[in-house]
Amino acid sequence: MTSVVYPGSFNPITNGHRDIVERALRLFDKVIVAVGTSPDKDPKTHLAERIGLCRLALAEFGDRVEVEGFNVLLVEYARAKNTRFVVRGLRTISDFDYEYQMIAMNQTMDPDLEYVLLPTSRQWSFLSSSLVREIAGLGGDISEFVPPAVAEHYRKSS
Ligand code: ADP
Repeated sequence: MTSVVYPGSFNPITNGHRDIVERALRLFDKVIVAVGTSPDKDPKTHLAERIGLCRLALAEFGDRVEVEGFNVLLVEYARAKNTRFVVRGLRTISDFDYEYQMIAMNQTMDPDLEYVLLPTSRQWSFLSSSLVREIAGLGGDISEFVPPAVAEHYRKSS
């Protein structure tokens, strides 16, 4: 069985992330969604909440998707999960710049880890977690951009 790690902040998980999971499942038997802490993005958002929303949003894929928190180096995490593959989503050229830099850094730590960069569906190429948070924070409707469980969560907490 071949598995792949999909690391990210998932703050919150969006339809764009879900799309990448679905595409990765066409290439791999199992996707391990690794929800990390991202000091740059929003350190305060509760990790357990982001994990819980990912689990609800990806429940339809059953045991082909595992969701876990992680707070170690990606190369170490992948090793611990016995996989040599990492998947990331690509929206724009600026995503590519960032990913390429991250890959180069990680390659120096573990040259055997392979990276799969999957372009998102065009309809989600504009979508980001930070915009979703901003819209939700201002009381806007995010149901078009996120899985139903996430929309429900933000509705309840607003
Ligand atoms: P990070 O803080 O690691 O960038 P994110 O949760 O923002 O975490 O993103 C995780 C991964 O999902 C990244 O590879 C990012 O490019 C990708 N991603 C984010 N939004 C989308 C989207 N709308 N479509 C496709 N991929 C996306």
